[in-house]
Amino acid sequence: MGKDKRKYSDRRQYLIKAVHARRKKIREMAVEYKGGKCESCGYDRCIEALEFHHNDLSKKSFGISEKGYTKSWKEVMVELDKCILICANCHRELHAKLAASCGNARVIKRVNSGKALRVNPEPILQ
Ligand SMILES: [Zn+2]
Ligand SMILES: [Zn+2]
Repeated sequence: MGKDKRKYSDRRQYLIKAVHARRKKIREMAVEYKGGKCESCGYDRCIEALEFHHNDLSKKSFGISEKGYTKSWKEVMVELDKCILICANCHRELHAKLAASCGNARVIKRVNSGKALRVNPEPILQ
């Protein structure tokens, strides 16, 4: 019993590591594919601070950072063509601008109708 348990947890650890490695690899390839720097300010110091923003959320199939590692690179590339590469700061700024340009009146109306309590789709950001 004890032995089996240990084996199971070893395998689990192995799988977790494999997923992390794949996620990291896809992320690196994706950042490189998109030019390796923020399209807005040129930031390129830390890959972890670079994010993908979907220009048109209606065309979004999956989030690169959430689901990218489960897809083939070909599928990821198709998805990347719908995105811009942007640093975390510019990304927050962009979403703030988008939220503002959506018009607060509409948001308040939706909240009052009880449908949308979330003002914008943070913190998923894609
Ligand atoms: Zn930036
Ligand atoms: Zn975004």
